[in-house]
Amino acid sequence: MSVWDDIVAAITEASGKRFVPNSQGTLGGGCINSAFRLSNGEHDWFVKTNHAARIDMFDAEAAGLNALADSATLKVPRALCTGTSGDTAFIVMQHIRFGNGSTRGWQAAGRGLAAMHAHNAHAFGWERNNTIGASPQPNAWRDDWITFWREQRLGFQLGLAARHNHGSRLQKLGDQLLTRFHVLVDHAPQPSLLHGDLWGGNLSFDSHGEPVIYDPATYFGDREADLAMTELFGGFSPDFYAAYREAWPIDAGYRVRKTLYNLYHVLNHLNLFGGSYGAQAERMMQSLLAEC
Ligand code: ADP
Repeated sequence: MSVWDDIVAAITEASGKRFVPNSQGTLGGGCINSAFRLSNGEHDWFVKTNHAARIDMFDAEAAGLNALADSATLKVPRALCTGTSGDTAFIVMQHIRFGNGSTRGWQAAGRGLAAMHAHNAHAFGWERNNTIGASPQPNAWRDDWITFWREQRLGFQLGLAARHNHGSRLQKLGDQLLTRFHVLVDHAPQPSLLHGDLWGGNLSFDSHGEPVIYDPATYFGDREADLAMTELFGGFSPDFYAAYREAWPIDAGYRVRKTLYNLYHVLNHLNLFGGSYGAQAERMMQSLLAEC
């Protein structure tokens, strides 16, 4: 049996309906995985593949997609199944036919995200660990957001950076920040359902103009962490932010916390790609220390 035979068999089993594909297209990979479309003319499935060792990453992605879809606030491709075949791991989800954004689409995205953030948990974290890009992301439940952010987000990425030999200067600034940043988080956030990796590459619009989010790193945390990431690589449309704020106003302290929350993603990029992200992380830490 080929990998494709195994994927087709998994689709048949999970959907409860014999699936016989009549077209298969390569979609070109995302940042991490190879991507394909499988269709039988009636149902289209989006398939990502990677090495078999990444099956945990796909299991966590499937759980994240379905948790976001269950909130019924923004369109999310529901995961059908995950599995392995020989050296290959795969995830199968609903295929989305993409179209164009519009003012109305961006407004719907802002309102939808605010509604998604209104879904709460009893604590910060999630039911399982997952990944952010290709890095592990620990999600053990914590009652206190500052402890969560210190240990499971900034501290965890600084630990990875130390193991990758990223500068004593970075570590020194990191240590100072970990002991002082709590003064910046003075707004008692509630544990909101987060996408977790909400940059422009992970939000798009379907062929009807409806916003769609995908490729999440789901957990329950401060909603400002999601908003911050939308601003890290260029920002979303002003219509998005206006609609979000109208649905749920944003605290003034977000201006500074945005840097605190995006530091996590910049450290992650340093650990994944190296290069100038080290200098960027140091500049962010210096500006945060000045605010403390
Ligand atoms: P990676 O995990 O490798 O970063 P993504 O999940 O971001 O991959 O997907 C890569 C690209 O495939 C996305 O940028 C998007 O264009 C497209 N894509 C993602 N999910 C779907 C889907 N459910 N249906 C159709 N295309 C998708």
